[in-house]
Amino acid sequence: MNILPEIAALAPEMSEWRHHLHAHPETAFEESATAAFVADKLQSFGLEVHTGLAKTGVVGVLRSGSGAHPAADAIGLRADLDALHIQERSGVPYASLHPGRMHACGHDGHTTMLLGAAAAMTRRKTVRGTVYFIFQPAEENEGGGRVMVEEGLFDRFPMRAVYGMHNWPGMPAGTFAMRAGPLMGAYDIFEIVVTGKGAHAAMAYTGKDPMLFAAQVINALQTIVARNLHPQDAGVVSVTQVHGGDTWNVIPQEVVLRGTVRTFKPAVQDLIEQRIRGIVAGVAATFDMSATVRYERRYPALVNSAAETQYAIAAAAAVVGAQQVDTDPTPEMGSEDFAFMLQAMPGCYVWLGAGRDSHTPNIHSPQYDFNDTVLPIGASYWVTLAEQQLEGRTF
Ligand SMILES: [Zn+2]
Ligand SMILES: [Zn+2]
Repeated sequence: MNILPEIAALAPEMSEWRHHLHAHPETAFEESATAAFVADKLQSFGLEVHTGLAKTGVVGVLRSGSGAHPAADAIGLRADLDALHIQERSGVPYASLHPGRMHACGHDGHTTMLLGAAAAMTRRKTVRGTVYFIFQPAEENEGGGRVMVEEGLFDRFPMRAVYGMHNWPGMPAGTFAMRAGPLMGAYDIFEIVVTGKGAHAAMAYTGKDPMLFAAQVINALQTIVARNLHPQDAGVVSVTQVHGGDTWNVIPQEVVLRGTVRTFKPAVQDLIEQRIRGIVAGVAATFDMSATVRYERRYPALVNSAAETQYAIAAAAAVVGAQQVDTDPTPEMGSEDFAFMLQAMPGCYVWLGAGRDSHTPNIHSPQYDFNDTVLPIGASYWVTLAEQQLEGRTF
C-alpha cells in the first residue's frame, strides 16, 4: 500500500473532519454549513475558492506556476456533500445530531478524502497545471451534478477530464474497481393512473374494477425484460407502490401504480418506456378503462470513457497494487448523478473498497458508517491520479 506521507500525516485530522461532517448531515441543496466547512478548509490550504455553484456547491482551484492554464492542463476531481433522509442507528459516538438526517452514503468520507487530497497537493507542489476540487450538492435524488453542469461548471472551469469516486462496502478495504463503459444504471420513474368505475363490491358488475387492471399490469410489466429485451441487454422494471381503495366493500374509482426503471443503454430505455405505454394502453382497453402514464427520465447511465479509465486504473494500481484493482466489475443498476458530468466531459468514476468484513452495512442502511481506514487510500488515489495526469506539464 502506497499511502503518501503527507496523507498519512493528515489521517488523524481527516478522521476528525469526517466525524464532524457525519454529526452534522445536511440534505439536498441545504448543505450550507457543510459548504462553509469545505470552503474554510480550502482557503486555509491557500486555494482559490468559488462558492454558490448550484446553490451550495464549492470549487477549490489549485494552480501551479503562473499564467492561465488551458483546459488541456486541467482536470477536475469531484466529491459529493449531501446526506440522506434516514434516522441514524449506527451507534457511533459522532452519530447525527440532526434528527431524520444521516450521512448513510459516505459522502462525509468523500468530502473528507478530497479535502485531504487538496491539502496534500498544496504541500507536495508536484502538480503542474490546474486541479479543480469540485464539491457538489444534492447527489441523492435531486441531481445537483446536473445543476452544476447546467450552471456552467465546465465553462467556468475548463478541464480535459473529470473524475469521481464512491466508497463501496461490498468490496474489501484496500481495493478499487472500475471499468470503461457503463458502470451504473440510468434511473427513470413512472406513474400509472387508471380510472375505472367505483361500485359496491358486492355488485361489482355495476363498476369497472381498477384493481383488476393493477394486477394484470404488474404482471405484464415483468414480461418486458423477460420477453422484449435482448438477453445480453440489461434492464430492471420494478413496481414499488400500489395505491387504491379505502375499505372492505367498495371497488375504488382509481388506482395509482408507481415504480422505477433501470437501464444502461438509451435504446433499451426507449424500448422499456414504449412497452410500458403499450401494455398500459392495451390492458386499459381490454377492461374498458382509461389510464395515463407519466414517465420521467431522472439520471442517465454512468458511462466511463476508455482513456480516462486507463488513467484511473494506473493511479489506483500505484496506491493499492494492480492485483487489488478489479478492471471488469459487474456494473450495478444503482444510479449516480456524476453521470451528468460524464455526459459533458470524459472521465472515470471508481468504486473504492470500504468493507470491514462480510457484515459491513451497505450504503443507505441506518447502520452504515463510512470506514475511516480508507480515508488515506482514497486521498492518496486522488493525489496520485492528479500527479500522474499533470506531472511535468509545461505552461
Ligand atoms: Zn447514496
Ligand atoms: Zn452516494
